[in-house]
Amino acid sequence: MNGLTSEQVSELHGDLVVLGRELDALLEMSEDIAKPIELEQPIGRLSRMDAMQQREMAMANRAAHERRRALVSEALEAFEDGSYGACVTCEGSIPFARLKALPETPVCLSCQERRE
Ligand SMILES: [Zn+2]
Repeated sequence: MNGLTSEQVSELHGDLVVLGRELDALLEMSEDIAKPIELEQPIGRLSRMDAMQQREMAMANRAAHERRRALVSEALEAFEDGSYGACVTCEGSIPFARLKALPETPVCLSCQERRE
């Protein structure tokens, strides 16, 4: 499949399944973050600002986890139709080393660099 051996394909599939589970666990842990900060809490002005900053950072982290989780799901679907390992932009094969580092990536390095 796309320049990958069947061993590499099953290794990457396993990596994606594990990554998906890790992200699900992280998302479950950060579920409460979206709740607003209790305004009745007797905290000072500074600590309230700290709390809001921390919440913003945690929400940004959570959003990043959600985006990554979506990529993992899409990558797992790509195994089904045999398109895994092909760049969605240029259709070239994504090298195994890149997939091993970022198994959920849908694009090759040069397309990623062009995107940024
Ligand atoms: Zn590409």
